[in-house]
Amino acid sequence: MNNFIIHYSEIALKKGNRDFFVNKLVQNIRMVFSGVKGASVENLPGRLLLKIPKDGSAEAGEKLSKIPGIANFMPATEVSADMEELKKAVVKGIDGKKFSSFRISARRADKKFPLTSEDINKELGTLLKEKSGAEVDLENPEFTVFVEVLKGKIFFGFEKSRGTGGLPVGTGGTAVSLLSGGIDSPVSSFMMMKRGCRLVFVHFHSHPYLDRSSQDKVFELMKILDVFQGKSKLYVVAFGDAQKKIVLSVPEEYRVIIYRRLMLRIANIIAEKEKAGALVTGENLGQVASQTMENISVIEDASKLSVFRPLLGMDKQEIVDRAKEIGTYDISILPDQDCCQLFTPKHPATKCRVETIENLESGLDVSEMAKEAERDAEIRDVF
Ligand code: ATP
Ligand code: MG
Repeated sequence: MNNFIIHYSEIALKKGNRDFFVNKLVQNIRMVFSGVKGASVENLPGRLLLKIPKDGSAEAGEKLSKIPGIANFMPATEVSADMEELKKAVVKGIDGKKFSSFRISARRADKKFPLTSEDINKELGTLLKEKSGAEVDLENPEFTVFVEVLKGKIFFGFEKSRGTGGLPVGTGGTAVSLLSGGIDSPVSSFMMMKRGCRLVFVHFHSHPYLDRSSQDKVFELMKILDVFQGKSKLYVVAFGDAQKKIVLSVPEEYRVIIYRRLMLRIANIIAEKEKAGALVTGENLGQVASQTMENISVIEDASKLSVFRPLLGMDKQEIVDRAKEIGTYDISILPDQDCCQLFTPKHPATKCRVETIENLESGLDVSEMAKEAERDAEIRDVF
């Protein structure tokens, strides 16, 4: 078996609710490894232990690095709670490793263990210095030996990897995320999953008036995002007929605003079905004409639920960097036909008033249009 010691992030701060958060994380890790025969997750004081059969471990690190709620993880060797056994195993473990400076970093979760963390650092440090000829460097060591003392057993390892951080998916409720084929909305989706939200995705397209490229892209994007939460579901909504109706009575410069308001109405209906408590978009203040302060407010006015916009204060470059990190960038930049291009001018109105928009909408039965579009939505999932 290969062991991984997993430390969770902010959960440590949750006093009364800690069990709820930890149990959710355990469940999520189990789900990610459900396809690996013989894998198990154990809840130990202050950390988790994942055991995987050796032949199923290949992508374990990659998978763990994508589970929200994990601060860091480390492949670890288990020995019994005995200093001599630990020393022997660590000496064996460093065999063949080259380093000129090192540090021992011990943590004692079981306070009954006869040596303190400091004692362990010193005793093991002295031995390692002798065996390796390397110097101790507490500030900037080339090599670190992490030791975790638990009741009846000790784990040690040499390589801690950073996790995604944040909170376990499912602890923050469910939200409906509006996923276009662009760079921004996959990043905003990631950021909400990282804060513990489970997301249901919705995409609007103008097929058959435009081609299917945006739908295919969004499905690929969802597959990448699915690694953060599992069991993702996408509502694919045909939006072109509604757009055609809008075009007949709405002047060009206001169309994008009205499209967006209709998208939010449809997303609200989906949210009700999915028992979701908020919507998520990749909107970002000032990035494009529909994203002025005035227009964002007018758009949100059509939504009963709060709209979360985790990218609001980010620079484009920061968003691009994040998209590359999570692996959505290369798909997002592929060319597609976005529904908002349909029947819209290059320069939409930047300062809409809600009265103007409501006036324009009064000739359209927007609520019936929303219901109709939702009714015909196609659902695709990743299972
Ligand atoms: P993105 O890069 O996410 O496409 P953007 O910078 O192009 O964003 P807009 O096109 O104004 O900005 O879209 C703002 C947000 O509205 C998107 O981030 C997304 O959440 C939502 N949205 C826009 N178009 C669609 C669509 N066709 N389907 C689903 N959501 C959409
Ligand atoms: Mg876009």
